[in-house]
Amino acid sequence: MTYDVLNPATEKVIRTIELAGEPEADAAIAKAARAFESWRDVNPADRGRLLRRFADAVDADLENLAALEVENAGHTIGNARWEAGNVRDVLTYYAAAPERLFGKQIPVAGGINVTFQEPLGVVGVIVPWNFPMPIAGWGFAPALAAGNTVVLKPAELTPLTAIRLGELALEAGLPPGVFEVVPGPGRTVGQRFVTHPDVRKIVFTGSTTVGKQIMAGCADQVKRLTLELGGKSANVVFADADLEKAAAQAPYGVFDNAGQDCCARSRILVERTVYDRFMELLEPAVKNFKVGDPSDPATEMGPLISKAQLEQVASYVEDPAFQGTAPSGPGFWFPPTVLAPPSDRAVREEIFGPVVAVIPFEDEADAVRIANDSEYGLSGSIWTRDVGRAIRVGRGVEAGNLSINSNSSVRYSTPFGGYKQSGLGRELGPDALNAFTETKNIFISTED
Ligand code: NAD
Repeated sequence: MTYDVLNPATEKVIRTIELAGEPEADAAIAKAARAFESWRDVNPADRGRLLRRFADAVDADLENLAALEVENAGHTIGNARWEAGNVRDVLTYYAAAPERLFGKQIPVAGGINVTFQEPLGVVGVIVPWNFPMPIAGWGFAPALAAGNTVVLKPAELTPLTAIRLGELALEAGLPPGVFEVVPGPGRTVGQRFVTHPDVRKIVFTGSTTVGKQIMAGCADQVKRLTLELGGKSANVVFADADLEKAAAQAPYGVFDNAGQDCCARSRILVERTVYDRFMELLEPAVKNFKVGDPSDPATEMGPLISKAQLEQVASYVEDPAFQGTAPSGPGFWFPPTVLAPPSDRAVREEIFGPVVAVIPFEDEADAVRIANDSEYGLSGSIWTRDVGRAIRVGRGVEAGNLSINSNSSVRYSTPFGGYKQSGLGRELGPDALNAFTETKNIFISTED
């Protein structure tokens, strides 16, 4: 079976790829299972060195990887460079892990008790189309560092950078089978990762609907699982905030990657006393947001990923308060859009496009109540000059990643993941290795 990969900015076919089916998935899993037997025993320093070489290969190929993502996903060139650099950095960060995968020595009677962090086996990483490179790296880098082998399934729409990363791993000297890339449909290849008994863990990033199906599928084998799912994050702006800065930054917090970001601050909550002033400041920031050719370094937002996504996003927009601009002609373009007042559907559902709902609130308690009135809990921001309030609200909002006076969510050295239906488990940061290892306890008797 073949698949035509499109450029979403032009709708032109950029490459036709061979899609894997179930037999190819089985073959890749068998190869990864064989490779596990030797990869787990590569000494820690050598495993670290190989991962650093992989990071160097990604760095040397950064411009090519970035150009592929501009073409395949419509990402702005600035974002795409950051994304390839993020894969390099995550590999480098976890390259230090094999030599630091410490167990514990626990005092007990009659002997010595030690724990070991042991790899799981083959890890299946299933990735969505919105950030193909970083999301793959957050799964495969710590998995490989902990001594697992990986089968990676990119999204159907965006396979090109994953395929290239697979080639770079081999060029860097990772043994064949340690990192297998299997482009194919979710319902065959992805599903096979879930049902195959040799895949010992799934790392899934994608929609909450598919995540629930995968969780149910994993239950059958008590398969380990990390889920990174949807979001409907709140950007909470208090009257005492630096309003100019909050309004200038708000569009970047939601329209980056054309709003196709699980961390998008797609609800802006504004204290009622400054609501009108905030809207006055927001309007020019939205109207001046630069939407266009993603390969132009000045561009701030490219197209949506597909026609289906464009239709889905458009279905939320009726009578917007104001909108920015977008190119006409070929490509899946949608302008930055502000809904105020928004429909109930636009407030509750993850739109996954450049559409933001602005909602007034009365006081601190009301802000926390509205922020938490969502089945999701991934991310969010709080804008205030009052440190105590920032911490109170930060502790009160049910979300895994919050920022104060900032809209940034992701740093590879800090944990990332969701509350409620935004996910299960955490990626990145110092503790991610725990999600790719089993703890083994061994007692050694010292009795005579
Ligand atoms: P999706 O759930 O449709 O697909 C995600 C991946 O799962 C794809 O590779 C797809 O082929 C595969 N898949 C689909 N059905 C499957 C099945 N039955 N079994 C196994 N695999 C299957 O999601 P999408 O539309 O590609 O991505 C958008 C979603 O991803 C949004 O909801 C977004 O919020 C979420 N997301 C979450 C995070 C996070 O970290 N929390 C990050 C990025 C994206």
